[in-house]
Amino acid sequence: ALHPVRRALISVSDKTGLVDLAKALAARGVELLSTGGSAGMLRDAGLQVRDVADVTGFPEMMDGRVKTLHPKVHGGLLALRDDEGHVAAMNEHGIGPIDLLIVNLYPFEETVAKGADYDTCIENIDIGGPAMIRAAAKNHKFVNVVVDVEDYQPLLDELEANDGATSYAFRQKLALTAYARTGAYDAAVSAWMTGALEETAPRRRAFAGTLAQTLRYGENPHQSAAFYTDGSDRPGVANATQLQGKELSYNNINDTDAAFELVSEFLPGNGPACAIIKHANPCGVARGQTLREAYMSAFDCDRTSAFGGIIALNSKLDAETAEEISQIFTEVIIAPGADDAAKEILAKKKNVRLLLTNGLANPLTAGLMVKQVSGGYLVQDKDAGHIDMDDLKVVTKRQPSEKEMADMLFAWKVAKHVKSNAIVYVKDGATVGVGAGQMSRVDSCRIAARKAQDMAEVLGLSEPLTRGSVVASDAFFPFADGLLTAAEAGATAVIQPGGSMRDDEVIAAADEAGLAMVMTGMRHFRH
Ligand code: 5GP
Repeated sequence: ALHPVRRALISVSDKTGLVDLAKALAARGVELLSTGGSAGMLRDAGLQVRDVADVTGFPEMMDGRVKTLHPKVHGGLLALRDDEGHVAAMNEHGIGPIDLLIVNLYPFEETVAKGADYDTCIENIDIGGPAMIRAAAKNHKFVNVVVDVEDYQPLLDELEANDGATSYAFRQKLALTAYARTGAYDAAVSAWMTGALEETAPRRRAFAGTLAQTLRYGENPHQSAAFYTDGSDRPGVANATQLQGKELSYNNINDTDAAFELVSEFLPGNGPACAIIKHANPCGVARGQTLREAYMSAFDCDRTSAFGGIIALNSKLDAETAEEISQIFTEVIIAPGADDAAKEILAKKKNVRLLLTNGLANPLTAGLMVKQVSGGYLVQDKDAGHIDMDDLKVVTKRQPSEKEMADMLFAWKVAKHVKSNAIVYVKDGATVGVGAGQMSRVDSCRIAARKAQDMAEVLGLSEPLTRGSVVASDAFFPFADGLLTAAEAGATAVIQPGGSMRDDEVIAAADEAGLAMVMTGMRHFRH
């Protein structure tokens, strides 16, 4: 049912758009109640406002911890206007109904993001705000609750359309958003405390997100989908600016994320790098003297799969690379910037989505991975595992050469981003064969080698690029067969975690084949 808005309570931390909203409400004859800072701002703008302290008969106290927590406020929000008892209670205690609540909360999330100390974070936990929001949302049969600046205009539109009243459906929607806001707020507080107390498995856990985009569909056309952001400013697909092309799809977002996280492993200080992704697995990753060279080498790993792929770059897209990329169909390019000349070249390819980020993602930054299973969620730390040269143990008679060592470390970084079982052949700073997502490790070794053979034909080479390559395995070789397959393909050095029951057998096979092998002591499963 339509319900007129006669009194509003305004209490906001983010004062964006506040004066305009309040003026529009006042012009409709809505009476305004407000708390300290908000009231001051409205008065300065020449509006007539009544202080909440005047309504409650209590001053705001305890540094603002107690401002609106009072029956005169909560009674006005919670009273059922069509219930005789409620109305009698309002009359008896002099409680006036509040039809509209405009609240946005103390900036707790921003305070945490700024790295504030423990006590400052605590002081930024809003108490009265969420209490009012939840009360108003519960009573949405009569009361409107607005928690986001984005909803100011829709509210004014609704009032305009209904001559100063709002519909039940409108209030229901506001209430739904309101509960998500208080839920997200408490989730942020709990997540912050979980981190501050270094709890790895808190008994209860809450997650929250904000709608960034409704998607046309999910992984498949019969699945509906939407994209939610977590409020962090991590460089990547969620915070990138799209310059051209259609909206990103569900699969685009998933694959672009995989591509960008992978290329972010390669610091631009060590030269340009490029990763090409299909179905969240790399089909080519390379460094180069130039970005174009990096792209070409990545492309040459698996030209067939690269078609319709997603390209991530670790440095600013330049014209010659854009020109080269334009030769085939690409779904998405993501990079930390692009030259004007490069943008102009891509502008001719209207279907290519170009995303620019505010830098690279730091692969060492801690984070959470959440996966849904039937009846629950699996939560783990993001795989920020990292090894250096010093962590490697040479286990074979032969020591790896410097060049082998550099390629092995490159291959290891790539393997971390390949679905298990992952096998990655690398030569001269470029992948030359990737085996992904197989149920047996030896199959991954074979598939990667066979793909390299196929590419040799495409490129008109006399032998596959796996000749003289190194190979990385994301987890230990359970048997010698996988390693022998790699040796047959021409790999001369192996990087793997070690730790198998049959490590001795595998090391003996490597020695026999004249391979150099190093163990990382760390594995990188990815499912
Ligand atoms: P103002 O700037 O108007 O003085 O304060 C607005 C902020 O105070 C809003 O973010 C609102 O959620 C918060 N607030 C309102 N009532 C209370 C209360 O009783 N306790 C606390 N801690 N915060 C409140």
